[in-house]
Amino acid sequence: MAHIVVIGAGIGGIPTAYELKEVVGPGDKITVVNNRPVFQFTPSNPWVAVGWRKREDVTIEMGPVFSRHGIDFIAKTVTKILPEENKIELEGGETLDYDFLVIAAGPELAFDEVEGLGPEGGYTQSVCTIEHAEKAYVAWEEFCADPGPVLVGAVQMASCFGPAYEFAAIMDTDLKKRDIRHKVPMTFVTSEPYIGHLGLGGVGDTKGLLESEFRDRNIKWITNAKVDKVEPNTMFVTEVDEDGNDKKKHELEFKYAMMLPAFRGVRPAMGIEGLANPRGFIIVDKHQRNPKYPNIFGVGVCIAIPPLEATPVPVGVPKTGYMIESMVTATVQNIGELLKGREPTHEPTWNALCLADLGDKGVVFFARPQNPPRNINWSAEGKWVHLAKIAFEKYFLRKVRKGVSEPFIERYLLGLVKMHRLK
Ligand SMILES: Cc1cc2nc3c(=O)[nH]c(=O)nc-3n(C[C@H](O)[C@H](O)[C@H](O)COP(=O)(O)OP(=O)(O)OC[C@H]3O[C@@H](n4cnc5c(N)ncnc54)[C@H](O)[C@@H]3O)c2cc1C
Repeated sequence: MAHIVVIGAGIGGIPTAYELKEVVGPGDKITVVNNRPVFQFTPSNPWVAVGWRKREDVTIEMGPVFSRHGIDFIAKTVTKILPEENKIELEGGETLDYDFLVIAAGPELAFDEVEGLGPEGGYTQSVCTIEHAEKAYVAWEEFCADPGPVLVGAVQMASCFGPAYEFAAIMDTDLKKRDIRHKVPMTFVTSEPYIGHLGLGGVGDTKGLLESEFRDRNIKWITNAKVDKVEPNTMFVTEVDEDGNDKKKHELEFKYAMMLPAFRGVRPAMGIEGLANPRGFIIVDKHQRNPKYPNIFGVGVCIAIPPLEATPVPVGVPKTGYMIESMVTATVQNIGELLKGREPTHEPTWNALCLADLGDKGVVFFARPQNPPRNINWSAEGKWVHLAKIAFEKYFLRKVRKGVSEPFIERYLLGLVKMHRLK
């Protein structure tokens, strides 16, 4: 009888628990440990930050849902992973034994790496969590009553760029609805070497599409940017040339700023040699399995993936929903094989498919494989992407409420993308 513990009830952890139900035997037990009692649909946070969604629209109380599906749930923070003892320690000192551990704890937000960055003690907003997005919305209403310059983007070592593009366009759309866009100069500040790089070397024509979108929306940009520090209403930015040498110093004034931080990995795994790299990201092999501790698997943003290429300012590779879905399926199938006494054989595809909402339309891209040169390297834009993103939000939340584990993207969204490519 095996006990499988999943750390994290997010985009990766919840589908892992649901899919595990289908491979475990009747006597096996699944426990999910999450530091909050609720699931939050992170991709909706940019909408929360302009008041288009409320907390109750995009969060789900997980205790009752898990219990309906025969999954144990503990709403506590994991403070230590003890891989030599097959145990995790929870806040308060209680411990939990496991036979298999799946780490799906998402990112730790590294605001502390840039002075003055972030909503907790700094001067910039964030859309990374529902709490941050709610705070950003309060600041947004104050800003709209007395508007001025906006800065938006992602700092050095960031690996998640899509939400910065989304939030820039969503703010632009919201300001137009309020008829005050003419009072707001907007600048996109990013560590990417060019607009639309996205940590993936661009996908299809994301460079052209997103540059043209920004031109259309009167959003200026600074690329190859390092944020040195942020003070109230001023951001100090160094723009570097293609060799990484300082090219220009900017002192950018703002009345509202939202900058995505760099990510670190899993705090309770930090410093455990062989389990995590120096930034705390979980080391996994081609089966999503940790090579040193083979009963531990990693899924989602918290796993270690090397950068795609050297860039003048360092950037990381994003881990998007579709990649995560493929990690989940491979992990669960491999645990299923181990439970039957066989060796794991399943490998994730790590293909990247992303729907970026731009408020009134959207951009979609699909990279297969993730790194160029690719067999499919495709991007497109249109109103249908905005609608598809809303549909995906509703579908994913329904799936979480119902305890359904179907791999949505493989089954439905790729069909839509294929149809669109054939047009
Ligand atoms: C603002 C934003 C928008 C995004 N939009 C998209 C999008 O539109 N499409 C897309 O494909 N990707 C998107 N992404 C990227 C990615 O899909 C999401 O970040 C996704 O939420 C990652 O899933 P995850 O399971 O790895 O982590 P998360 O969803 O963050 O889940 C991790 C869970 O672990 C919990 N946890 C953390 N530490 C502990 C601990 N010590 N103990 C217990 N629990 C812990 C957290 O509270 C959380 O519930 C977005 C990312 C961000 C930040």
